[in-house]
Amino acid sequence: MSAESELLPVEDARARALALASPLPTEWARLEEALGRTLGAEVLAQRTLPPWDNSAMDGYAVRSADLSGPLPIRLSIGETIHAGSTPRVELRPGTCARIMTGAPLPTGADAIVMQERTRPAQGADGPAVEILEAVPPGNFVRPRGEDARAGEPLLARGTPLGIPELGLITAQGMFTVPVPRRPRVAILSTGDELCRADEAPDGRIVDTNAPSLALAVARAGGLPTLLGIARDTQEEVSTRLADAQGFDVVLTSAGVSVGERDFVKAALQEQGVELNFWRVAIKPGKPLVVGRRGATVYFGLPGNPASSLVTFELFVRPVLRRLLGHTDVEPPRVPGRLDGELRKAPGLAHYIRVVASWRDGELWARPLATQTSGALRSTASATHLLHFPREASSLAHGGHVVLLPVSWGT
Ligand code: AMP
Ligand code: MG
Repeated sequence: MSAESELLPVEDARARALALASPLPTEWARLEEALGRTLGAEVLAQRTLPPWDNSAMDGYAVRSADLSGPLPIRLSIGETIHAGSTPRVELRPGTCARIMTGAPLPTGADAIVMQERTRPAQGADGPAVEILEAVPPGNFVRPRGEDARAGEPLLARGTPLGIPELGLITAQGMFTVPVPRRPRVAILSTGDELCRADEAPDGRIVDTNAPSLALAVARAGGLPTLLGIARDTQEEVSTRLADAQGFDVVLTSAGVSVGERDFVKAALQEQGVELNFWRVAIKPGKPLVVGRRGATVYFGLPGNPASSLVTFELFVRPVLRRLLGHTDVEPPRVPGRLDGELRKAPGLAHYIRVVASWRDGELWARPLATQTSGALRSTASATHLLHFPREASSLAHGGHVVLLPVSWGT
C-alpha cells in the first residue's frame, strides 16, 4: 500500500485522464439532438437576420431630425405598420408612422419613439401625435443583420450549443448541425456479492453502480451500454473486457482496491490497457485506475456507491465533455459558506456531500449526516460536493469553501 504522499493530487489525476481523450469525429445531428453538445465545424450564415431594420418597441417611427425643435412636437400619422406587414409609403418630413414591435421601419424613418413618450393629438387633416422627447438616430431600432449576416461566420467551431445558439441556427433554416458524436460508454460491474435488480437477492446485494453510472453517462451526453456483472476472478473480468469492443470509454466498478479478490487492475493489464495511474489523494474514491488502449479510455472506478459517483463527477464527466468537444471541461465551482464544522486528518482531499441553499445573499452548505462511501443515502439529496483541501484538517462554521454542483441531482 502506497503512502499518502505518493497519491496523485486530484487536479493532476484529472489532467492526466483528460490528456488521454480528444474530441470524437463529427456527425450530423438534428437540432433536438444537439442541445448541450458542441459545434464540430464553423457554421456560416446563409440569411441576413433580421432581414430589415425593425422596431424594438410599440410606438412611432420618426425622422429623428424632425424632433430638434422645442417639445412637444406634433407629427401627423401616416400608415400603421404591424409586425408581419410591409410599409407601403415613404415617411415624409413632419410625419410619422404608428409602428408595432418587430415591424419593419418605413423608408425615411431612422428612429422609434416609444408610445409612453407620446400623447394623442388631433391634427388639422387627420390623426396626429405629440412627441414628448427628442431621440437620437437608431433609437429602439433593431438593425438589419444584428443576429446574422449572410456569408459571414455565425458560430465558431467548438461553440457549446445551448438553446439560444440552436435558435440562431433554426432561424437560418438549418435542421441539422455537425457535432462530435456521442461517446459510447461500456459499464461493467464486478463482484461476487452482486445480483441484478430483477433477480432474487439470495444473500447478494443489488448492483446499483451500473444503472447509476448509466444515468450519469446519459446525462453527460454519452451513450451507455451495460455489460452486466463479472464475478471476482481475473479470468472473468478479463474476458468481459476483451468482449467490450468498439467503445470510447469503458467504466468498471469495484475490485480496484487492495483486497484479495481485487482483479480489475490485473485484468486491465492483461488486456493490454496501459495504466496511467492508480490511487488518487481523495476521499471518497482513493482506489481509481485510469488507462488507455488504442483510442479507448478505461476507468476502474471504486465499488462503493458514493465513491463511484464522486469519481464519475470529478474524472469521468470531464473526459466525456472533452470527447464531446467542450473546452470548458473542469467541474464547475461556486463559492459558499460552511454551515457546520468539519475535521479530518491531512493527506487526502475530501469531497463532502452537502445540501446547499441560498441564505442572506450566500450559498450555505450543510454536510449530510452520513458521509460513509458505502451508503447511497450519503449521496441522496446532495446538491454539491464541498472541497475539503488535502492538507487542511479543520473547517470552521461560516468558513469560505469551494462547492462543486453535482450533475446527479434533480
Ligand atoms: P470493492 O471495491 O470490490 O471492495 O467494493 C467496495 C464496496 O462496494 C463493497 O461493499 C461492495 O459490495 C460495494 N459494491 C461493489 N460493486 C457494487 C455495485 N455494482 N453496486 C453496489 N455496491 C457495490
Ligand atoms: Mg469486491
